[in-house]
Amino acid sequence: MENSLPTSIDVVEAKTSKIDSVDFENLKFGNVFTDHMMVCDFVDGEWQSPSIKPYGPIQLDPSAKVFHYGQAIFEGMKAFKDDDDQVWLFRPKENINRFNKSSKRLAIPEFPEATFLEGLELLVNLDRDWVKKGRGNSLYIRPFVIATENGVSASPSNSYKFFIICSPAQSYYSGEVRVVFAEEFSRAASGGVGYAKAAGNYGAQFYPTNLAKQEGYQQIIWTDADTHEFLEEAGTMNIFFRVGDKLLTAPINDRILNGVTRRSVIALAEENGITVEVRRVPVKEIVEAAEKGELKEIFGSGTAATINPIKGFGYQGKKFELPEPSKPYSEFFKSKLMDIQYNKTEDKFGWRHPVKA
Ligand SMILES: *Cc1c(COP(=O)(O)O)cnc(C)c1O
Repeated sequence: MENSLPTSIDVVEAKTSKIDSVDFENLKFGNVFTDHMMVCDFVDGEWQSPSIKPYGPIQLDPSAKVFHYGQAIFEGMKAFKDDDDQVWLFRPKENINRFNKSSKRLAIPEFPEATFLEGLELLVNLDRDWVKKGRGNSLYIRPFVIATENGVSASPSNSYKFFIICSPAQSYYSGEVRVVFAEEFSRAASGGVGYAKAAGNYGAQFYPTNLAKQEGYQQIIWTDADTHEFLEEAGTMNIFFRVGDKLLTAPINDRILNGVTRRSVIALAEENGITVEVRRVPVKEIVEAAEKGELKEIFGSGTAATINPIKGFGYQGKKFELPEPSKPYSEFFKSKLMDIQYNKTEDKFGWRHPVKA
């Protein structure tokens, strides 16, 4: 695969901006989109010339394969603005890389990395007024690709559409989160598509999550599909357990999404002398630690919420509440990550990527 397309990116600016009609103090996550989007078509065996144009609806034939066979994958990443109005992306190459891993698993042609990054930067720069300053404010960026070929034969599409759309976001607060450990349903199976950000992985979680909500939980912690004995991840977040002063998190396998935030937390823990054991985490071990009062914290990691503390969990009909830790790791990692994202601290790991103005 070539790293970049031979053509340049065509930019058509919106005649008017919607920005004045947006209430930036009261944003609902992922509901409002910026003035522009990036689009690129794959036809005749090639990605065509990409363009950035006004955000708006698209037209598809009802037989387009994405509707029938779910050939669709996506990414989620963020841009931040510092006090000097510089806009930064956080580890964008990791997302681009993962986008292509997901594509490959779904038999979707990979997108040239350099063109992806170039278009992303052009788009974010064009909509830079939508990236608000201030801790907690960000621009959520959603790249995705769908199969667009007409016809309901069950075979990979010969045409695709690539998009990047952007949505201004405020600090993500989902309220108090309690989770239930999965005993019956599974998110992903070995050999399947769990490691890809495949659209269908999310649709399949809604029903079991609705059942969990009826029991008073907000989310499910998925366990391994074979035995349900090991804790894997939260479905849109990776998951960490603090037992004593040690952190535990499951190793990446083909059922688990390899989160950028997860890897960043592990790196920050190592840098700050916090022990992280990346190994299988038995449900039994966590339940026993909770009973003995040794389970101090559970938190999720993901782009949308950064770090999401979890207040309690349910297992086999029993409910467990976690203590209020005096110096929570969840706050420590969240604030370390945000310091880097908002350019408040030195970037030792090289995670900030500037968006050229
Ligand atoms: C996106 C996602 C995550 C978090 O990944 P980040 O790169 O940290 O945003 C975790 N689990 C699943 C299933 C996901 O889709």
